[in-house]
Amino acid sequence: MTQGSYDIVIAGGGLGGATLGRALAGAGVRTLIVERETAFRDRVRGEGMMPWGVVEARALGIDRLLRDDGAHVVPFWRRYSGLVPAESRNLADTTPGHTPCLDFYHPSMQRTLLDAAESSGAIVLRGAEVVRVDQGDAPGKPPVAEIRTDGGTHRVKARLVVGADGRRSTVRRIAGFTLNQDPVRLIVAGVLYEGLDTPEDSVHHFQCPALGQAALVFPIGHQRFRTYFVSWVGHRAHPISGSGHTREFLDACVDTGVPRDWFERASVVGPLAAYPGADIWVEHPCNGSVVLIGDAAAASDPSWGCGLSLTLRDVRVLLDRLLANDDWEAAAHAYAFEHDRYYGALHRVLDWLTQLLYERGASADERRARILPCFAMEPDRAPDLPGLGPETPSDEEARRRFFVEDRFLPPG
Ligand SMILES: Cc1cc2nc3c(=O)[nH]c(=O)nc-3n(C[C@H](O)[C@H](O)[C@H](O)COP(=O)(O)OP(=O)(O)OC[C@H]3O[C@@H](n4cnc5c(N)ncnc54)[C@H](O)[C@@H]3O)c2cc1C
Repeated sequence: MTQGSYDIVIAGGGLGGATLGRALAGAGVRTLIVERETAFRDRVRGEGMMPWGVVEARALGIDRLLRDDGAHVVPFWRRYSGLVPAESRNLADTTPGHTPCLDFYHPSMQRTLLDAAESSGAIVLRGAEVVRVDQGDAPGKPPVAEIRTDGGTHRVKARLVVGADGRRSTVRRIAGFTLNQDPVRLIVAGVLYEGLDTPEDSVHHFQCPALGQAALVFPIGHQRFRTYFVSWVGHRAHPISGSGHTREFLDACVDTGVPRDWFERASVVGPLAAYPGADIWVEHPCNGSVVLIGDAAAASDPSWGCGLSLTLRDVRVLLDRLLANDDWEAAAHAYAFEHDRYYGALHRVLDWLTQLLYERGASADERRARILPCFAMEPDRAPDLPGLGPETPSDEEARRRFFVEDRFLPPG
């Protein structure tokens, strides 16, 4: 089945690989998706898709698929300061795409999209790994992907190999891309609860800048809630991770403002895991015969919940370029240039938000005391991450407005 050649070989059948494979196969492109796992389990991955990502999901035709699979439509984003709801935002009314958040159980989303890719005509090889890519070293020579299965190793030719194999991407490493990583400033711990006593119509966002921490509760349907605790690195003696730390996780959420009684009848129904809150990315995620998408290209700091949306932006941009241009090398480079632009913009804005909302110490407190009241009076100084994502203004003028430098600098 895997011998011979395909138009495209995609390493990884996560959100990025499965969505791209489904769309390409549906357009008549001979597509092979190689997925390491045979069944999906809770890996504490993204389950809350921002409204700007839902716009991408609609454009790619997977929004309906996910809803039919039980994805949960979340119309409101509720921000709390302490225990008091400070703002409840109606997302469909206030975002440019008029879209809500879409939340889902990640393993179920992966299964649905990979099955859909198969139904569209992609060949899906499960329990198999891309372990090597020989890149066409002469012009016009196609790359060859080496795939390891239980039955041995197969070599498959393709016009293009796509690395959609996640934040620890093998394809990225074997294709020789240079990896960049921000210093780790935040730690994100997450776990799945069932039976929290809170409305399922809102993402609940507790931000506590004075303590350098936040808690986020994403309802994913059927009374289940993916819950995260985010804190400044070094603030705690150790990351909150592992089943022995569920009590500590709950207490940390309560410290951040989540009412304790929400948890009274709740139970933990998945692993508790912690991850570094830092971006990992490559510049120009294409080298001609190999192109990277999703977390393999740029895993944005999970604390800000943009990875799913960014992955779908990658899929849509790459797909459009490939379908519009017979020269796939040129198409893949065009995607990579575009990726550098929108990922770079998002990266800048997330950095500003991390500085403002999480940094600790007297000067950080002073900066917040100066800036946050200005945001309250002029809300358009703050980035619209849920609605605009990378299109939220991020140029020098936006930076000066964000840090309120436009008011305090001497004229001229
Ligand atoms: C703690 C945490 C919380 C997050 N929360 C959010 C959130 O709330 N909202 C949000 O938008 N994003 C969030 N994210 C980010 C989001 O999960 C990712 O951006 C998204 O899952 C990336 O999708 P992907 O398809 O690129 O990679 P993945 O989902 O990692 O999929 C990669 C696939 O490739 C397979 N694979 C790996 N290596 C190989 C190989 N060599 N050969 C074949 N297959 C291979 C893997 O088995 C996997 O199925 C979070 C991330 C973390 C870590």
